[in-house]
Amino acid sequence: MYKRLPVKEAVIAKEKGIYPYFRPISSAQDTEVIIDGKRVLMFGSNSYLGLTNDPRIKEASKKAIDTYGTGCAGSRFLNGTLDLHIELEDRLARYVGKEKAILFSTGFQANLGALSSLTGRNDYIILDEYDHASIIDGSRLSYSKVIKYRHNNMDDLEAKLKGLPPEVNKLIVVDGVFSMEGDLARLPEIVALAEQYNTGIMVDDAHGLGVVGEKGAGTASHFGLTDKVDVIMGTFSKSFASLGGFLASDADTIEYLKHSARSLIFSASMTPAAVASTMAALDIIETEPEHIEKLWANTNYAKDLLMEEGFELGPTASPIIPVYVRDHEKTFAIAKMLQDNGLFVNPVVPPAVPADATMLRFSLMATHTFDQIEEAVYKMKEAFAKLDIITLKEKI
Ligand code: PMP
Repeated sequence: MYKRLPVKEAVIAKEKGIYPYFRPISSAQDTEVIIDGKRVLMFGSNSYLGLTNDPRIKEASKKAIDTYGTGCAGSRFLNGTLDLHIELEDRLARYVGKEKAILFSTGFQANLGALSSLTGRNDYIILDEYDHASIIDGSRLSYSKVIKYRHNNMDDLEAKLKGLPPEVNKLIVVDGVFSMEGDLARLPEIVALAEQYNTGIMVDDAHGLGVVGEKGAGTASHFGLTDKVDVIMGTFSKSFASLGGFLASDADTIEYLKHSARSLIFSASMTPAAVASTMAALDIIETEPEHIEKLWANTNYAKDLLMEEGFELGPTASPIIPVYVRDHEKTFAIAKMLQDNGLFVNPVVPPAVPADATMLRFSLMATHTFDQIEEAVYKMKEAFAKLDIITLKEKI
């Protein structure tokens, strides 16, 4: 059998004892987790609202298993559609302000399904250079011509749009909240350009749902531009404390996707437990605004504290806070040092970011306490000073 060589960077990091990936956690995803039998503060989770361990959501999952069993044993297209799937689709469409929605088994599959079927060989897909990997892969599957513009740079977007033939189909696809940088897509300007150059818009709101907008309805809602966005994509693996994804749009587009998105038609549907937990999370998000309020209080508290302590932060507008290290090996080393010292954060290195922009991705949950945030920032400051990381302005 043909064997690939191991990835060089992973081998080197393992030899140096600073390999930071696939760390096994032996507890629920919460503000504290257990790794190697030790308590570790979790500041690297996408569970922004801290709902993954909520007893009501766990109970809804268990009940769904009792009623519907553990799996659907087929795709939505054939034997895998439950009444529960339809109910969640109706609720999500109303929640984000679109006519219809369709569920996929992951957010990654939702993006693959949308891009591979909404655009084709003679069309153009226009991407922000920092869009998520699933958008890039979906674009490749579409055989469309892919054009990238510099991150959130509207002059560059306009220059790229100007160069395209006016009569062809064009779709701009952006992350609503960028997954590593934490900043928001400049949707008002993107909408204006899309109107001027007759272009569709799709927003991947994996990190915006449950975080920004009316009751957490996402980036389009935040800017009051829901009607101007053609397709909204979301995932349940972050604020919604579950697993799965969806696309929401007008009724015709969703009907088309149901009969053409191959990652939907040829893949098994969301499990009953995943659907029920997503629905229970949606109940909580729609009726208990205090979770989003606490998430933002925590985010602002952490941001202020990190800035006060002299860390170099990215221009975030969300609970995702990039803390720059600007050195690949030190980024791994510090993530390891922090974990040994009881703090989990995610190291971000190329190809996710440019080589001179390596960082720790520090992310907040609504369930963190201010004490936990202070403890985490103190641990970071200690570790940055020990490793002599120059982005820390003042050493302790
Ligand atoms: N889009 C973005 C912006 C993401 O960050 C992610 C997950 N990291 C996905 C899509 C894929 O979602 P899922 O985890 O549900 O496959």
